[in-house]
Amino acid sequence: MVLIRKAPDTAEKLSILSRDSQYDLACSCATRDDEHRRRSPENKWIYPVVLPNGGTTYLLKTLLSNECVNNCTYCPLRAGAPADRCSLSPEELARTFFSYYGAGRVSGLFLSSGVNKDPDATMERINQTALILRRSRFKGYIHLKIIPGASQGAIRQSLALASAVSLNIETPTAENFKYLSTSKDYQRDILQPLEFISRLRARGSAYSRIKQTTQFVVGASRETDKEIVGSSWKLYKELGLNRIYFSAYQRGAGSPGLPGERSPVSNNALLTREHRLYQVDWLIRKYGFKAEEIPFDPSGNLSLETDPKEMWARRHPEFFPVNINKDEESRLLRVPGLGQVQVGRILCMRKEGIKIRSLDDLGRRHTTRSKARMYVSF
Ligand code: SF4
Repeated sequence: MVLIRKAPDTAEKLSILSRDSQYDLACSCATRDDEHRRRSPENKWIYPVVLPNGGTTYLLKTLLSNECVNNCTYCPLRAGAPADRCSLSPEELARTFFSYYGAGRVSGLFLSSGVNKDPDATMERINQTALILRRSRFKGYIHLKIIPGASQGAIRQSLALASAVSLNIETPTAENFKYLSTSKDYQRDILQPLEFISRLRARGSAYSRIKQTTQFVVGASRETDKEIVGSSWKLYKELGLNRIYFSAYQRGAGSPGLPGERSPVSNNALLTREHRLYQVDWLIRKYGFKAEEIPFDPSGNLSLETDPKEMWARRHPEFFPVNINKDEESRLLRVPGLGQVQVGRILCMRKEGIKIRSLDDLGRRHTTRSKARMYVSF
Protein backbone atom coordinates (compact mmCIF):
# COMPACT_ATOMS: atom_id res chain seq x y z
CA MET A 1 0.00 0.00 0.00
CA VAL A 2 1.31 3.43 -0.91
CA LEU A 3 0.61 6.23 1.58
CA ILE A 4 0.10 9.57 -0.10
CA ARG A 5 0.64 12.49 2.28
CA LYS A 6 -1.59 15.43 1.55
CA ALA A 7 0.27 18.75 1.43
CA PRO A 8 -0.83 20.86 4.41
CA ASP A 9 -3.28 23.64 3.59
CA THR A 10 -2.83 27.22 4.78
CA ALA A 11 -4.65 26.66 8.08
CA GLU A 12 -2.57 23.58 8.87
CA LYS A 13 0.66 25.39 8.03
CA LEU A 14 -0.39 28.37 10.12
CA SER A 15 -1.12 26.08 13.02
CA ILE A 16 2.41 24.60 12.85
CA LEU A 17 4.18 27.90 12.21
CA SER A 18 2.30 29.78 14.87
CA ARG A 19 3.05 27.06 17.43
CA ASP A 20 6.73 27.32 16.53
CA SER A 21 6.69 31.09 17.08
CA GLN A 22 5.87 30.55 20.78
CA TYR A 23 9.51 30.81 21.84
CA ASP A 24 9.69 34.37 20.62
CA LEU A 25 8.20 36.64 23.25
CA ALA A 26 9.62 39.93 21.98
CA CYS A 27 6.44 41.29 20.47
CA SER A 28 4.27 42.10 23.40
CA CYS A 29 3.68 45.25 25.35
CA ALA A 30 2.57 43.06 28.23
CA THR A 31 3.59 44.11 31.69
CA ARG A 32 3.38 40.77 33.45
CA ASP A 33 5.59 37.91 32.36
CA ASP A 34 2.77 35.34 32.30
CA GLU A 35 1.01 37.49 29.70
CA HIS A 36 3.75 36.78 27.17
CA ARG A 37 2.80 33.14 26.68
CA ARG A 38 -0.96 33.45 26.71
CA ARG A 39 -2.87 32.72 23.55
CA SER A 40 -6.51 33.08 22.76
CA PRO A 41 -8.30 29.80 23.47
CA GLU A 42 -10.03 29.34 20.14
CA ASN A 43 -7.29 30.39 17.76
CA LYS A 44 -3.77 29.21 18.27
CA TRP A 45 -2.20 31.85 16.08
CA ILE A 46 -3.94 34.84 17.62
CA TYR A 47 -2.08 36.26 20.59
CA PRO A 48 -3.47 38.80 23.04
CA VAL A 49 -1.22 41.78 23.67
CA VAL A 50 -1.62 44.22 26.55
CA LEU A 51 -1.24 47.83 25.43
CA PRO A 52 0.57 50.48 27.47
CA ASN A 53 -2.84 52.05 28.28
CA GLY A 54 -4.02 48.78 29.81
CA GLY A 55 -6.27 47.69 26.93
CA THR A 56 -5.85 44.46 25.03
CA THR A 57 -5.45 43.90 21.34
CA TYR A 58 -4.80 40.78 19.26
CA LEU A 59 -1.95 39.99 16.91
CA LEU A 60 -1.59 37.30 14.34
CA LYS A 61 1.76 35.87 15.40
CA THR A 62 3.57 33.36 13.23
CA LEU A 63 6.70 32.30 11.44
CA LEU A 64 6.80 32.57 7.69
CA SER A 65 8.81 29.38 7.61
CA ASN A 66 10.17 26.93 10.18
CA GLU A 67 12.82 25.62 7.84
CA CYS A 68 16.26 26.74 8.93
CA VAL A 69 19.81 26.31 7.69
CA ASN A 70 21.28 27.21 11.09
CA ASN A 71 21.97 24.87 13.93
CA CYS A 72 21.50 26.88 17.13
CA THR A 73 21.92 24.36 19.95
CA TYR A 74 18.94 25.53 22.03
CA CYS A 75 16.42 25.72 19.18
CA PRO A 76 13.88 23.01 18.34
CA LEU A 77 13.86 24.25 14.73
CA ARG A 78 17.59 23.83 14.15
CA ALA A 79 18.62 22.09 10.93
CA GLY A 80 18.48 18.35 11.36
CA ALA A 81 16.08 18.41 14.33
CA PRO A 82 12.87 16.46 13.87
CA ALA A 83 10.12 18.98 13.08
CA ASP A 84 7.14 19.32 10.72
CA ARG A 85 8.65 21.73 8.19
CA CYS A 86 6.58 24.08 6.10
CA SER A 87 6.45 27.63 4.76
CA LEU A 88 3.84 30.20 3.82
CA SER A 89 4.31 32.47 0.84
CA PRO A 90 4.12 36.23 1.51
CA GLU A 91 0.91 36.38 -0.57
CA GLU A 92 -0.64 33.45 1.35
CA LEU A 93 0.13 35.02 4.70
CA ALA A 94 -1.08 38.47 3.63
CA ARG A 95 -4.35 36.93 2.41
CA THR A 96 -4.84 35.09 5.69
CA PHE A 97 -4.02 38.19 7.70
CA PHE A 98 -6.62 40.24 5.85
CA SER A 99 -9.30 37.62 6.37
CA TYR A 100 -8.76 37.87 10.15
CA TYR A 101 -8.28 41.61 10.09
CA GLY A 102 -11.43 42.12 8.02
CA ALA A 103 -13.41 40.04 10.52
CA GLY A 104 -12.09 42.19 13.37
CA ARG A 105 -10.19 39.25 14.90
CA VAL A 106 -6.71 40.79 14.84
CA SER A 107 -5.33 44.29 14.73
CA GLY A 108 -1.73 43.59 13.78
CA LEU A 109 0.93 41.13 12.75
CA PHE A 110 4.07 39.69 14.38
CA LEU A 111 6.23 38.00 11.77
CA SER A 112 9.40 35.98 12.19
CA SER A 113 11.02 33.12 10.30
CA GLY A 114 13.60 30.39 10.32
CA VAL A 115 16.54 31.17 8.06
CA ASN A 116 15.87 29.92 4.53
CA LYS A 117 19.04 29.92 2.45
CA ASP A 118 20.60 33.03 4.03
CA PRO A 119 19.60 36.03 6.20
CA ASP A 120 18.83 38.40 3.32
CA ALA A 121 16.78 35.88 1.33
CA THR A 122 14.71 35.42 4.51
CA MET A 123 14.42 39.15 5.14
CA GLU A 124 13.24 39.61 1.56
CA ARG A 125 10.25 37.31 2.21
CA ILE A 126 9.49 38.95 5.56
CA ASN A 127 9.69 42.42 4.04
CA GLN A 128 7.67 41.35 1.00
CA THR A 129 4.81 40.25 3.30
CA ALA A 130 4.84 43.61 5.09
CA LEU A 131 5.01 45.42 1.77
CA ILE A 132 1.87 43.66 0.51
CA LEU A 133 0.06 44.71 3.69
CA ARG A 134 1.19 48.33 3.44
CA ARG A 135 0.39 48.54 -0.28
CA SER A 136 -3.10 47.33 0.61
CA ARG A 137 -3.38 50.40 2.83
CA PHE A 138 -2.97 48.54 6.11
CA LYS A 139 -1.74 51.20 8.53
CA GLY A 140 -1.83 49.12 11.74
CA TYR A 141 0.80 47.40 13.85
CA ILE A 142 3.44 45.25 12.14
CA HIS A 143 6.30 43.77 14.17
CA LEU A 144 9.08 42.34 12.02
CA LYS A 145 11.87 40.10 13.16
CA ILE A 146 15.32 41.10 11.96
CA ILE A 147 17.29 37.99 11.11
CA PRO A 148 20.84 37.95 12.58
CA GLY A 149 23.33 38.76 9.85
CA ALA A 150 20.81 40.75 7.76
CA SER A 151 22.36 43.43 5.56
CA GLN A 152 21.89 47.12 6.30
CA GLY A 153 19.72 47.47 3.16
CA ALA A 154 17.33 44.75 4.34
CA ILE A 155 17.15 46.27 7.84
CA ARG A 156 16.46 49.70 6.41
CA GLN A 157 13.61 48.29 4.35
CA SER A 158 12.10 46.60 7.44
CA LEU A 159 12.15 49.86 9.36
CA ALA A 160 10.40 51.58 6.48
CA LEU A 161 7.53 49.08 6.75
CA ALA A 162 7.29 48.13 10.44
CA SER A 163 5.86 49.64 13.60
CA ALA A 164 8.39 47.67 15.66
CA VAL A 165 11.39 45.45 14.99
CA SER A 166 13.34 43.02 17.11
CA LEU A 167 16.60 41.18 16.75
CA ASN A 168 17.24 38.69 19.52
CA ILE A 169 20.53 39.18 21.34
CA GLU A 170 20.16 35.76 23.06
CA THR A 171 23.20 36.05 25.37
CA PRO A 172 24.99 38.83 27.25
CA THR A 173 28.48 38.11 25.89
CA ALA A 174 30.24 36.62 22.87
CA GLU A 175 31.69 34.01 25.22
CA ASN A 176 28.19 32.81 26.19
CA PHE A 177 27.06 32.92 22.57
CA LYS A 178 29.59 30.23 21.61
CA TYR A 179 27.44 27.73 23.53
CA LEU A 180 24.50 28.53 21.27
CA SER A 181 25.80 28.86 17.75
CA THR A 182 28.92 28.25 15.74
CA SER A 183 27.48 29.57 12.48
CA LYS A 184 26.59 33.07 13.69
CA ASP A 185 29.09 35.68 14.80
CA TYR A 186 27.94 37.55 17.89
CA GLN A 187 29.65 40.83 17.02
CA ARG A 188 28.96 40.90 13.27
CA ASP A 189 25.52 39.25 13.13
CA ILE A 190 23.94 40.44 16.39
CA LEU A 191 25.61 43.44 18.04
CA GLN A 192 26.40 45.42 14.90
CA PRO A 193 22.86 45.13 13.47
CA LEU A 194 21.41 46.02 16.90
CA GLU A 195 23.56 49.16 16.92
CA PHE A 196 22.67 49.94 13.32
CA ILE A 197 18.93 49.76 14.06
CA SER A 198 19.45 51.97 17.09
CA ARG A 199 21.30 54.56 14.96
CA LEU A 200 18.53 54.55 12.35
CA ARG A 201 15.98 55.22 15.12
CA ALA A 202 17.85 58.26 16.41
CA ARG A 203 15.71 61.17 17.58
CA GLY A 204 14.50 63.30 14.68
CA SER A 205 15.13 60.60 12.07
CA ALA A 206 12.48 59.15 9.76
CA TYR A 207 12.50 55.97 11.87
CA SER A 208 12.45 57.50 15.35
CA ARG A 209 8.93 56.21 16.05
CA ILE A 210 9.80 52.59 15.30
CA LYS A 211 10.05 50.49 18.47
CA GLN A 212 13.05 48.23 19.01
CA THR A 213 13.05 45.21 21.30
CA THR A 214 15.22 42.17 21.92
CA GLN A 215 15.20 38.92 23.83
CA PHE A 216 17.60 36.82 25.94
CA VAL A 217 17.29 33.07 26.16
CA VAL A 218 17.71 32.19 29.83
CA GLY A 219 19.60 29.12 30.99
CA ALA A 220 21.17 27.80 27.80
CA SER A 221 24.60 29.46 27.72
CA ARG A 222 26.00 29.40 31.28
CA GLU A 223 25.22 33.09 31.56
CA THR A 224 24.62 34.59 35.00
CA ASP A 225 21.73 36.88 35.89
CA LYS A 226 24.27 39.59 36.64
CA GLU A 227 25.61 39.38 33.08
CA ILE A 228 22.09 39.55 31.63
CA VAL A 229 21.15 42.54 33.82
CA GLY A 230 24.41 44.37 32.95
CA SER A 231 23.86 43.78 29.25
CA SER A 232 20.18 44.86 29.48
CA TRP A 233 21.20 48.06 31.25
CA LYS A 234 23.56 48.92 28.36
CA LEU A 235 20.91 48.11 25.75
CA TYR A 236 18.45 50.49 27.43
CA LYS A 237 20.97 53.24 28.13
CA GLU A 238 23.23 53.12 25.08
CA LEU A 239 20.95 51.80 22.32
CA GLY A 240 17.63 53.16 23.62
CA LEU A 241 15.75 49.85 23.35
CA ASN A 242 12.06 50.03 24.24
CA ARG A 243 11.73 46.61 25.82
CA ILE A 244 13.81 43.57 26.63
CA TYR A 245 12.27 40.11 26.94
CA PHE A 246 13.53 36.96 28.64
CA SER A 247 12.64 33.48 27.51
CA ALA A 248 13.44 30.52 29.76
CA TYR A 249 15.13 27.74 27.85
CA GLN A 250 12.79 24.76 27.79
CA ARG A 251 14.87 21.69 28.64
CA GLY A 252 14.71 19.07 25.96
CA ALA A 253 13.85 21.57 23.20
CA GLY A 254 17.48 21.93 22.09
CA SER A 255 20.23 19.43 21.29
CA PRO A 256 20.60 16.64 23.84
CA GLY A 257 23.25 17.53 26.43
CA LEU A 258 23.16 21.21 25.58
CA PRO A 259 26.71 22.37 26.43
CA GLY A 260 25.58 25.69 27.91
CA GLU A 261 22.99 24.28 30.30
CA ARG A 262 23.71 24.61 33.99
CA SER A 263 22.74 21.29 35.50
CA PRO A 264 20.58 20.12 36.99
CA VAL A 265 17.99 22.88 36.64
CA SER A 266 14.29 22.14 36.28
CA ASN A 267 12.04 23.93 33.81
CA ASN A 268 10.21 25.42 36.80
CA ALA A 269 13.42 26.89 38.22
CA LEU A 270 14.19 28.39 34.81
CA LEU A 271 10.72 29.92 34.62
CA THR A 272 11.23 31.41 38.10
CA ARG A 273 14.57 32.79 36.93
CA GLU A 274 12.83 34.33 33.92
CA HIS A 275 10.24 35.85 36.28
CA ARG A 276 12.98 37.33 38.50
CA LEU A 277 14.64 38.92 35.46
CA TYR A 278 11.32 40.55 34.52
CA GLN A 279 11.05 41.87 38.08
CA VAL A 280 14.54 43.38 37.79
CA ASP A 281 13.69 44.82 34.39
CA TRP A 282 10.66 46.50 36.01
CA LEU A 283 12.81 47.85 38.87
CA ILE A 284 15.18 49.40 36.36
CA ARG A 285 12.63 50.81 33.95
CA LYS A 286 9.93 51.93 36.37
CA TYR A 287 11.35 52.17 39.88
CA GLY A 288 14.61 54.01 39.30
CA PHE A 289 17.01 51.22 40.28
CA LYS A 290 20.45 51.09 38.66
CA ALA A 291 21.99 47.84 37.44
CA GLU A 292 24.67 48.02 40.15
CA GLU A 293 22.02 48.16 42.88
CA ILE A 294 20.45 44.83 41.95
CA PRO A 295 21.21 42.21 44.63
CA PHE A 296 22.91 39.07 43.34
CA ASP A 297 24.25 36.10 45.25
CA PRO A 298 28.00 35.34 45.22
CA SER A 299 27.60 33.33 42.01
CA GLY A 300 26.07 36.35 40.24
CA ASN A 301 22.48 35.13 40.27
CA LEU A 302 19.19 36.39 41.67
CA SER A 303 17.49 34.63 44.54
CA LEU A 304 14.82 32.22 43.33
CA GLU A 305 13.09 32.39 46.73
CA THR A 306 12.88 36.15 47.33
CA ASP A 307 11.95 38.88 44.89
CA PRO A 308 14.78 41.32 44.07
CA LYS A 309 13.11 44.39 45.57
CA GLU A 310 12.65 42.69 48.92
CA MET A 311 16.18 41.32 48.75
CA TRP A 312 17.50 44.85 48.18
CA ALA A 313 15.47 46.13 51.15
CA ARG A 314 16.86 43.42 53.43
CA ARG A 315 20.38 44.44 52.49
CA HIS A 316 19.70 48.15 53.04
CA PRO A 317 18.21 48.59 56.51
CA GLU A 318 19.71 52.12 56.61
CA PHE A 319 17.19 53.20 53.92
CA PHE A 320 14.15 52.40 56.08
CA PRO A 321 11.66 53.19 57.48
CA VAL A 322 10.09 55.18 54.66
CA ASN A 323 7.47 57.64 55.90
CA ILE A 324 4.23 57.03 54.03
CA ASN A 325 2.91 60.54 54.71
CA LYS A 326 6.08 62.49 53.97
CA ASP A 327 8.67 60.73 51.83
CA GLU A 328 9.04 61.37 48.13
CA GLU A 329 7.74 59.05 45.40
CA SER A 330 11.15 57.58 44.55
CA ARG A 331 11.57 56.41 48.18
CA LEU A 332 8.03 55.04 48.39
CA LEU A 333 8.63 52.97 45.25
CA ARG A 334 11.49 51.15 46.98
CA VAL A 335 9.26 49.74 49.71
CA PRO A 336 8.63 45.99 49.16
CA GLY A 337 4.93 45.38 48.56
CA LEU A 338 4.23 48.91 47.34
CA GLY A 339 3.77 49.09 43.58
CA GLN A 340 3.01 52.00 41.31
CA VAL A 341 -0.72 51.69 41.98
CA GLN A 342 -0.35 51.89 45.77
CA VAL A 343 2.20 54.71 45.53
CA GLY A 344 -0.16 56.59 43.20
CA ARG A 345 -2.93 56.14 45.75
CA ILE A 346 -0.69 57.44 48.57
CA LEU A 347 0.18 60.54 46.55
CA CYS A 348 -3.51 61.17 45.74
CA MET A 349 -4.51 60.82 49.38
CA ARG A 350 -1.78 63.22 50.40
CA LYS A 351 -2.95 65.76 47.80
CA GLU A 352 -6.43 65.55 49.26
CA GLY A 353 -4.99 66.16 52.73
CA ILE A 354 -5.85 62.67 54.00
CA LYS A 355 -3.50 61.44 56.69
CA ILE A 356 -2.65 57.76 56.20
CA ARG A 357 -2.60 55.94 59.55
CA SER A 358 -2.04 52.33 58.50
CA LEU A 359 -1.50 50.16 55.42
CA ASP A 360 -5.15 49.13 55.66
CA ASP A 361 -6.00 52.64 54.38
CA LEU A 362 -4.37 51.72 51.04
CA GLY A 363 -6.67 48.84 50.21
CA ARG A 364 -7.14 45.23 50.95
CA ARG A 365 -4.13 43.64 49.26
CA HIS A 366 -2.75 41.22 51.80
CA THR A 367 0.71 41.10 50.16
CA THR A 368 1.01 44.88 50.40
CA ARG A 369 0.32 44.82 54.13
CA SER A 370 2.50 41.86 55.02
CA LYS A 371 5.48 42.85 52.88
CA ALA A 372 5.49 46.58 53.49
CA ARG A 373 4.76 46.56 57.23
CA MET A 374 8.40 46.15 58.30
CA TYR A 375 9.63 48.97 56.10
CA VAL A 376 7.29 51.93 56.70
CA SER A 377 6.35 54.51 59.30
CA PHE A 378 3.42 56.93 59.42
S1 SF4 B 1 18.44 30.74 13.30
FE1 SF4 B 1 18.81 29.46 15.09
S2 SF4 B 1 17.25 30.18 16.56
FE2 SF4 B 1 16.56 30.90 14.54
S3 SF4 B 1 15.22 29.27 13.80
FE3 SF4 B 1 17.25 28.83 13.02
S4 SF4 B 1 18.16 27.38 14.49
FE4 SF4 B 1 16.39 28.38 15.44
